[in-house]
Amino acid sequence: MKVRGLAALEAKSQLVAHEFTRRDLGSHDVGLSISFAGICHSDIHQAREEWGPAIFPMVPGHEIAGIVTSIGSSVTKFKVGDRIGVGVFIDSCRTCANCTSGLQQYCLEGMTGTYNTLERDGKTVAYGGYSNGFVINEDYAVHIPQNLALEGVAPLLCAGITLYSPIRKWGVTKDSKVAVMGLGGLGHMGVKFAAALGAEVTVLSHSSAKKVDALAMGATHFVDTSSPNALDPLKKSFDLILNTVSAPLDINLYLNLLKLDATLVVIGLPGEAYAVNPGTLLDGRRRLAGSMIGGISEMQEMLDFCDEHSIVSDVEVIQADYVNTAYERTVASDVKYRFVIDGTSF
Ligand code: NAP
Ligand code: ZN
Ligand code: ZN
Repeated sequence: MKVRGLAALEAKSQLVAHEFTRRDLGSHDVGLSISFAGICHSDIHQAREEWGPAIFPMVPGHEIAGIVTSIGSSVTKFKVGDRIGVGVFIDSCRTCANCTSGLQQYCLEGMTGTYNTLERDGKTVAYGGYSNGFVINEDYAVHIPQNLALEGVAPLLCAGITLYSPIRKWGVTKDSKVAVMGLGGLGHMGVKFAAALGAEVTVLSHSSAKKVDALAMGATHFVDTSSPNALDPLKKSFDLILNTVSAPLDINLYLNLLKLDATLVVIGLPGEAYAVNPGTLLDGRRRLAGSMIGGISEMQEMLDFCDEHSIVSDVEVIQADYVNTAYERTVASDVKYRFVIDGTSF
């Protein structure tokens, strides 16, 4: 399949228009036209090699919402015209204990990412969703509910599932006090999901101008972390803290905010190590955990939850030629709250 898209030709370079070929449709593959592709901060980290050596040319993009245009001879899950979503991985070993229990993102052989990796044949370079067309094995795609706008759905395929999964894993209910660190693409989905479950949500943000939006999304409290001693009154007050911040920070300040036996989940991945003070963990038997996206069945569950609660991402739809500005604005925490590229603009 010949497609048009955007690529970083080398690390830290600007993204440019790029034509390339995707693999031919296999018997279990689905071809799709991409309607919208979200810009995740992970795209920026990888295009700038902030997570280590990467593969170039790189076509980023792992928040893909589109329409099925063709199906392989053995496909049963989709038909032409269906709304389809693709997220952060396109394959996994399918046989290990984690894959068979629906946790493909934790495949013991390593999931196959949507881009910046080789497919499981060990030679085909995977190219991501900043393009007008895609090919995906049917088992690694999800159905998008009919009533949700595709531009608002695209970010659910990474930002959405990445917050939905820990919110479910750590059992958030109406009795939970939850803090979300960072009101960006991921964080704003965390606020919406936790609020939909009835939790009392506090946003911890270094951007005071986001307060009105945070409250409109369902947060009860907004704390400007850039003001001195802002966290002091919050000590020992949360059941769960979800850290979506994309930059390095002093994690101990936030661990202090956990109640007895409560958990801080690391989700943001700045590419630098945290220094954890063991004393902060000991006091209150606190837990520090991590969480990475979610499996295919959980992605479908999350989309069905969004359908039931009318939840989509707040997006700024952009044309492909705005992508480099969008990267700069994302790094500057200046996006409301996810950039999504219009698939017709490639
Ligand atoms: P984003 O939209 O850029 O949001 C990150 C937020 O972090 C910003 O909006 C800002 O929130 C806060 N922030 C940024 N720089 C900061 C600084 N210097 N000091 C304090 N706060 C700062 O990014 P995203 O797409 O949501 O991704 C967030 C992180 O999660 C990235 O590192 C990404 O790679 C990672 N990620 C992880 C997974 C996973 O599976 N675990 C999946 C996807 C992405 P405020 O303005 O509210 O302070
Ligand atoms: Zn992502
Ligand atoms: Zn596996």
